[in-house]
Amino acid sequence: MLKHGSTIGFLGAGQLARMTSHAAQSLGYKTLCWSGGGDASPTRHVAGDVIEKPFTDASALQQMLDRCDVITVETENIAIELLEKFVGKDILRPRSQAVRIAGDRRLEREFIAKTGLEQTSFRVVNTAEDLEAAYEALGDCVAKTAREGYDGKGQWRIRSKADCATCLSERGKHELVVEKFITFEREVSVLVARSATGETVVYDPAENIHRHHVLDASIVPARVQPDVLERIKHIGQTLAEELDYIGLLAVETFVTEDGQVLINELAPRPHNSGHHTINACVGSQFENHVRAITGLPLISPELLKPTVMVNLLSDQWSPSDPGILSAERTGSQKTAWHLYEKEWIKGRRKLGHVTFLADTQEDVLKDANQFRQWLGTHSPTH
Ligand code: AMP
Repeated sequence: MLKHGSTIGFLGAGQLARMTSHAAQSLGYKTLCWSGGGDASPTRHVAGDVIEKPFTDASALQQMLDRCDVITVETENIAIELLEKFVGKDILRPRSQAVRIAGDRRLEREFIAKTGLEQTSFRVVNTAEDLEAAYEALGDCVAKTAREGYDGKGQWRIRSKADCATCLSERGKHELVVEKFITFEREVSVLVARSATGETVVYDPAENIHRHHVLDASIVPARVQPDVLERIKHIGQTLAEELDYIGLLAVETFVTEDGQVLINELAPRPHNSGHHTINACVGSQFENHVRAITGLPLISPELLKPTVMVNLLSDQWSPSDPGILSAERTGSQKTAWHLYEKEWIKGRRKLGHVTFLADTQEDVLKDANQFRQWLGTHSPTH
């Protein structure tokens, strides 16, 4: 168990490191974030210290190794060469191997296949011939770069041979994993925290609604049959055990109309679909991640009220909008605002989120949907 006052290092300095830092500090730990060259605005005023250097910087790496008692990640997009640097000191939690698997769709699919759990049918593609063969075998499909894709980036929908050609011309040198296109009824994710002793807690799964490939809202409990929820929780627990995982693991699934559950992907870190856990659960995903990686006992993931989390994306919202934190705006006083102090640079960035709580799911959906409608008609004042 890491002593009070020990230092937790983060690879990444965005909103996940920010919210995990909050949890770590509540438990008496210090935090040090290494931005890796990415935007550090969410952690600059929150973490104990931030190193704003690229992940290739040798002196930054040395500082992390010297100053941190444990190091964790807020992204799986980390070069293998860097992950290997942590193996000798055995300081990375989750361990390098788990991050490596979750950061590479081919390794991820091959790992899931070994567990025997159900996932989307897939093919690994390197050449034009491979891609045509995959399209012929799978039909309507989605090609994804094996590494570095996120939020729909590095993905191509393939419905014709012309789509194959477009994908090949745009993919650069990336290996591809091509998956059958699934006409799902719901997207549902589950969060599992597991510590080195094997102690495990599983959160109630979240139903996720996307807008232009980015998470827009998470609804908990997910609106699927109870037996489907149990199967999804079982999938999360099994994957955490099979990986001998330490930390918070998120698993995204597709639920089809006939109740089939297919694994989409894994994230070896706290997840956007778990942000509601700060306000709606006894222990948040961030707290359980910190507890798992420091060896503290885990805390209950119990859901206290039906909840909906709505992301604040920069195409619909800006922190400079007047009166933005008012209860009137959301139509409910049971809302919790979380702003990330993130600088808006360009594109659609996640600038914050709002968590709605109510005594019934009907009421919480009403409040959240009213707010989403307002966001949808709103022009942000950047
Ligand atoms: P991913 O980065 O793999 O999570 O994909 C982003 C989003 O694209 C998912 O949340 C789905 O909405 C959609 N998507 C990804 N893969 C598939 C698939 N095989 N079939 C249908 N939709 C998909």
